[in-house]
Amino acid sequence: MAAGKKKMAPERWARSTCPYCGVGCGVEVGVKSGKIVAIRGDRSHPANFGKLCPKPAGLPEAVHHPDRLTYPLRRRPGSGFERITWDDALGEVAEKLRATIHEHGPEAAAFYISGQLLTEDYYAIGKLTRGYLGVANVDSNSRLCMSSAVAGYKGAFGTDGPPASYADIGYAECIALWGSNTADCHPVTFGRIQQRKKDPKVSVIVVDPRRTPTAEIADVFLPIKTGTDLALANAMVRVIMDEGFVDEGFVRRHTEGFEEAAEIAGEWTPRRAARVCGVEAEISSRRRGASARRRPRWRCGRWASTRACGAR
Ligand code: SF4
Repeated sequence: MAAGKKKMAPERWARSTCPYCGVGCGVEVGVKSGKIVAIRGDRSHPANFGKLCPKPAGLPEAVHHPDRLTYPLRRRPGSGFERITWDDALGEVAEKLRATIHEHGPEAAAFYISGQLLTEDYYAIGKLTRGYLGVANVDSNSRLCMSSAVAGYKGAFGTDGPPASYADIGYAECIALWGSNTADCHPVTFGRIQQRKKDPKVSVIVVDPRRTPTAEIADVFLPIKTGTDLALANAMVRVIMDEGFVDEGFVRRHTEGFEEAAEIAGEWTPRRAARVCGVEAEISSRRRGASARRRPRWRCGRWASTRACGAR
């Protein structure tokens, strides 16, 4: 809200979803005279329970800003743009696509779409491009923000989506935030972790070379040297094995390659990892043992992306 601008009281509230990121927080939209005048968190929504990060606070101004493009413009020969009708715009785009594909084949066309579309929008675009036009070249800005995480998920868990859900936070007794500044990057998730941490039996471990705001709630903060997190992970696996905390049934049912991983981890004593990571072996070893005894655990999914972001 611009300084000095008076807030208007809404006539009614409508439930909707924040359009800005994949957390998908529920919002309540305050409407007056057909315009959005206020935004607040939806307390009944299972993703955020009424909490919001700062981004949607500016939605009323963004939606009604005069610079927002709400109708088609065509570039004028020379300079500038002219307003055209939707029929003209759609006809022109369709004709150019048709001519390009007719002359050069479907490989000559590509679509770059938004990562902020909803599931139904993606479905419609998929049908239009691959199904109707035969164009396989569809990409989005999601590639920039999620592709490294997806590579990490595939390599670590065999699936391209985060394996945990927000609801798991409510059951976790030990939460390891590994290479994630959740306080700044996922404020709504961080709020849930803070809420969970009110239970005295819940502990939080933060692994990050930087002392971020997330580290402020950590019971144990491990400021390892950059690029050494696999040494820490291997030592953690070794301590879990040495102290008999491996859940054999879980390993049998849900993992593959455990023997190979265990063999590599066997080479990583806490002392060796401490030397490489630059953290104290006794503290990290003790905490790993404590965390392994607690279950279930929840980790911020983004840690998996470190695999593709330069971790050794
Ligand atoms: S975390 Fe912030 S940007 Fe993402 S959906 Fe929730 S309120 Fe919107």
